[in-house]
Amino acid sequence: MTDSQIDETHAPDRLSWIGAANDPQTDFPIQNLPFGVFRRKGGDTARIGVAIGDHILDLAGIADRLAAEVDDAAALLKAPSLGPLMGREPQLWRTLRKVLVRWLEAGSSAQGMVAPHLVAMGEAEMLLPARPGGFVDFFASIQHATNAGSLFRPTAPLLPNYKYVPIGYNGRASTIRVDGAAIRRPNGQRLPPGDSVPVFGPSLRLDYEMELGIVLGGASAVGEPVAIAEAWRHIFGFCLLNDWSARDIQAWEYQPLGPFLGKSFATTISPWIVTAEALKPFRAAAFARPEGDPAPLPHLADAADQRAGGVDIQVSAWLRTAAMRAAGAPAHRLGTASSAGLYWTPAQMVAHQTSNGCNLEAGDLYGTGTISGDGPDALGSLLEITRGGSAPIRLPDGTSRAFLEDGDELSMTARCARAGFASIGFGLCRGTILPAPAG
Ligand code: CA
Repeated sequence: MTDSQIDETHAPDRLSWIGAANDPQTDFPIQNLPFGVFRRKGGDTARIGVAIGDHILDLAGIADRLAAEVDDAAALLKAPSLGPLMGREPQLWRTLRKVLVRWLEAGSSAQGMVAPHLVAMGEAEMLLPARPGGFVDFFASIQHATNAGSLFRPTAPLLPNYKYVPIGYNGRASTIRVDGAAIRRPNGQRLPPGDSVPVFGPSLRLDYEMELGIVLGGASAVGEPVAIAEAWRHIFGFCLLNDWSARDIQAWEYQPLGPFLGKSFATTISPWIVTAEALKPFRAAAFARPEGDPAPLPHLADAADQRAGGVDIQVSAWLRTAAMRAAGAPAHRLGTASSAGLYWTPAQMVAHQTSNGCNLEAGDLYGTGTISGDGPDALGSLLEITRGGSAPIRLPDGTSRAFLEDGDELSMTARCARAGFASIGFGLCRGTILPAPAG
């Protein structure tokens, strides 16, 4: 990527007339402006907004004013979902961002017009940004693939296709929830150790997976693959994603067709979609394949993608037990890793998924796969941290965990930082475990 793609909306010294947006710790400075869907507490209308400091700018409320500057803005921004906006092209997203920056920056003559349309985040409830028609979960961290593979298949942790194919599976879209939704422990089949007949009941090995969500925009036609060089035109933005996983159900069911009920009971995403535009300063080189690894096949190879097709987002996962919560103790960090270390880039995922003629629809969601890096503090699941449950971790409240217990709250956060640019964040992606339904 050339610096020409970074524009005035990324200028690090720009401040907003909304004071909280100028706090260096905020996830939502004026350089971020992520999109989400919210409703006022007690209200019943879903509305599109952008996060700015500790407020939401209600874009539905100013949609008619935006229409003077952005084609079709009124219809796109009065929708109860980001789907119609995601269905448009990057040029429109970019124009909208530029107008919003101009209106929200310190000294803007638009302050008086915009200010009545701010909603304090504490007065709003976040909703699903768009209903994904499709959800694909990839497996792009080679560290995670190796760690998890060695637990499920000690003799063959990394299968021979891994370095050629961005491995993924079609997940379940209907159980995607936003931050804060309770997660009920699933019932399912598992094979008790040493037994040859499975039992049905609550999962005993409930886990999280620390991932990023990639929200797709625009649409592509059936039968028309998206070339890797065009793939970013179809990436609207990124969010946090927790691919809740029942390891015992997964281990029993996954061969020969892959994950099914061990994953489909719930997926949690953060409600704010950080746009691909806002992430431009944090683009990074694709993962440097070590000597001896095969080069990507031609449809997955692109010089620009190798140069700047990665994204450096530092993602962290945190655990707070019910006892820690009751004692007012802070969450314990389980692991932190950067998406810059993923073996496959977002563009390679798009090019791969569409290479057989499968189309994309606006609002489709990808998970990157669990993001794990090198070292014990860079692991993205309890499966890896506790080595399949054999090495439980000690928590600050004196308890230990092999897998998640009822009452545990798992949360995820993420930040992007680069010298010379304003740091931006992703907000929260939380879920608390409820007991399994009575069998
Ligand atoms: Ca996953």
